[in-house]
Amino acid sequence: MSEKGRQHRKGTPSAPSLEDAVAFDDIFPEIDADDPRRSVADETPQPDERAVRREREAARELRDSSWWKNQLAKGVCHYCGQRFSPAELTMDHIVPVSRGGRSVKSNVVPCCKACNNRKKYLLPSEMVTTMTPTLQEQFYRLIVSASTELPEDICKVLASVADNEAEASPARQTLETINQNAALAVERRLPLCQDTGLINFYISAPDGTPHRPIEEAARAAVVQATAEGLLRQNCVEVPSGRNTGDNLGSGNPAFHWDIAEEGAPVNVTLLLKGGGSENVGVQYSLPDSRLNAGRDLEGIRRCVLDAAFQAQGKGCAPGVFGVAVGGDRLGGYEEAKRQLLRRIGERSADAALAALEERLLTEINGLGIGPMGLGGRTTALEVFIGCRNRHPASYFVTVCYNCWCCRRQTIVLE
Ligand code: SF4
Ligand SMILES: [Zn+2]
Repeated sequence: MSEKGRQHRKGTPSAPSLEDAVAFDDIFPEIDADDPRRSVADETPQPDERAVRREREAARELRDSSWWKNQLAKGVCHYCGQRFSPAELTMDHIVPVSRGGRSVKSNVVPCCKACNNRKKYLLPSEMVTTMTPTLQEQFYRLIVSASTELPEDICKVLASVADNEAEASPARQTLETINQNAALAVERRLPLCQDTGLINFYISAPDGTPHRPIEEAARAAVVQATAEGLLRQNCVEVPSGRNTGDNLGSGNPAFHWDIAEEGAPVNVTLLLKGGGSENVGVQYSLPDSRLNAGRDLEGIRRCVLDAAFQAQGKGCAPGVFGVAVGGDRLGGYEEAKRQLLRRIGERSADAALAALEERLLTEINGLGIGPMGLGGRTTALEVFIGCRNRHPASYFVTVCYNCWCCRRQTIVLE
């Protein structure tokens, strides 16, 4: 430890001088005495006071420049990559001024408060260990992203279908409002919808990955995001009707685990599924005499068209139809919901089902139900059909519908 550091540790009641400000104990209080980074910092030449003052003045000027305002307007923290409003971002020197860094464009970046607190006066090479986010932080970021940002493919399709609707029609206006709402949610880091939905984590991990710490971190992140209003309190106990207040409870959040190849990374996809769209999900058992639907592709088609027709005006159209054919009662719903994880335009590997997906997309949009049930050409954004083997006596067709607010995001856990 440097002499200056020792002296400062003994403590002086007055505010540290500029020179003291670069003493090791002040800037790395969390680093242990035997950490090798101490010796590196102890050997770091101290900047002269005039240079520090000059760079701070230059930083003030840079903050007023239109270049810096453009950087803030992008709304992304350089370190964690998360989105923030410009007001929530500060200017960070990659190489800190107190360690010889300059206030020039190549050395300043927008930085969120959390990253700023953790980075302090570290150099990029020293950040590796201290900046690795915890499991809870990674889940928290996933929740923020899923709650506030639509996936790219959903954004694209919502933008393109607006152009299909007649000028000044309710359908066109509704879609334009949806698109404006999505842009504002990203910009202001606010939930895309007041109903932030049911929380479904789909986790793919190699055999032997411990589940408990991952699930505990996810739950802690859910509590944090709920307290911050990024998730609505959507977990109600039955039969008491008591809201648990933190989105934790029996079956909440839901974890769906898959076994990945040995050595594969742990992937987590979060699906936030709105309650209004969940309510219009339905399961058919074929043959169905009301629909004149038999156990074949035509029978499946009739079921999906009926589900779309029955849902009209409910569940905030346009949306995505996830369909499962086969399975048991439970497996049908599980598979139908999983279909919502597919990207727009991703066709079934089975040629007959792929053709049926496309046909149903056209036919549902031909029903004229339109955005929010107000009439128009856009009722479905996509139809996905998956299959599960069935018992010889059973033939279920299950439809799981997701509104336009199709919130799914994926991360690879570090
Ligand atoms: S159905 Fe979707 S868009 Fe409508 S209120 Fe629920 S989450 Fe929001
Ligand atoms: Zn950050």
